[in-house]
Amino acid sequence: MKPVAKIILHNGKEHSLLRFHPWVFSGAIKIKDDLQDGELVEVFSAKQQFLGVGHYSNASISVRIISFKQVEINDDFWFNKINKAYEYRKNLGILNESTNVCRLIFGEGDGLPGLIIDYYAGHIVFQAHSIAMHLNREALIKALQKTFGDGLKSVYDKSSETLPKQYAQGVKNQYLLGQGGERVVVKENNCEFIIDWENGQKTGFFVDQRENRSLLSKYSKGKKVLNTFSYTGGFSVYAALAGATLVHSVDSSAPAIELSRQNADLNKIKNHEGYDEDVFDFLKDKDNVYDVIVLDPPAFAKSRDVKHNAVKGYIKLNALALRKIKPGGILFTFSCSGVIDKMLFYNSVAAAAIEAGRNVKVVHYLCQPADHPVIPFFPEGEYLKGMVLWVE
Ligand code: SAH
Repeated sequence: MKPVAKIILHNGKEHSLLRFHPWVFSGAIKIKDDLQDGELVEVFSAKQQFLGVGHYSNASISVRIISFKQVEINDDFWFNKINKAYEYRKNLGILNESTNVCRLIFGEGDGLPGLIIDYYAGHIVFQAHSIAMHLNREALIKALQKTFGDGLKSVYDKSSETLPKQYAQGVKNQYLLGQGGERVVVKENNCEFIIDWENGQKTGFFVDQRENRSLLSKYSKGKKVLNTFSYTGGFSVYAALAGATLVHSVDSSAPAIELSRQNADLNKIKNHEGYDEDVFDFLKDKDNVYDVIVLDPPAFAKSRDVKHNAVKGYIKLNALALRKIKPGGILFTFSCSGVIDKMLFYNSVAAAAIEAGRNVKVVHYLCQPADHPVIPFFPEGEYLKGMVLWVE
């Protein structure tokens, strides 16, 4: 086997790695071998102390560490990582008799930067965000097979939209194992959902809202509920099954709304309507109609440069919903933009309440669930935040 390439850092640049932060920025590197994108590298301090082994890319984040121990990266390594992630989710009770869908690998949160894997009742959707994870896909599939045995039905690689541009062109989304074609039905807290990972957004379903959807059940009985940015109706199904008198889903994607109708039928829900419309237009003439409103927009800011505009977007959207909701109503409001931290989001919502002239009380602060683990050494992994507000 070819020896693993080496990187030596400038003096003093080892501290973040010693605190288990998994990124090495290009400016920290003093000496490196001639490296290919995606190549495995061992990182050392200026004093030759081993710091970690990771994947190299010729970019501002130059190395993503996959092990802080000096180990060989072989089939056992990949299996241990995948199996540990699976055991963690099983032990926490995330996968159980009423839920057979979860995020199995959440990048850095599971010690595998550059990799996202979602699990849908035995089917896997695999997304490589780095060329290294794409190059390691066969070893990763072996690890998945060893972890799930016969329980593994298919692996769909949906990396063409997540790989860096220069690699994405040559990659097509495809099954690496088994077959799809059918639309699979999964259970989340006993609510049933059709998942169409081939045509749907991201990996097919927004697995990260499971616990927040469950919380909505608590506030939906006897209420008129509006689920905006509804996608395939995740929040809507929970609200209706919990006894809402009426549930409306609004999303600008017609296929998503069609699927929300099918999901309502699948759960034998009769009082659901789906609208493929822009949320801002839809809300215009809806004064005092809804007791409960859910706002779960897509990331308004994907990079720091557009942070200011994103804040303006959150204030505008929240102020609109706060103006429309009935007195004594409950607003579920979210942001999934990683670059908007929770204090900034809370302050934006406060600004919206002032703008709308509504007094509010915070009933809950919400976050991402444990299958999207935040590790304290890597605060960048925290992205989903939300609030439940009582609106006077
Ligand atoms: N709440 C959903 C996930 C929402 S993802 C769930 O639990 O599954 C964000 C959604 O917002 C996407 O489906 C996208 O189609 C929709 N969207 C984006 N901009 C919109 C707009 N201006 N009006 C309506 N829907 C919009």
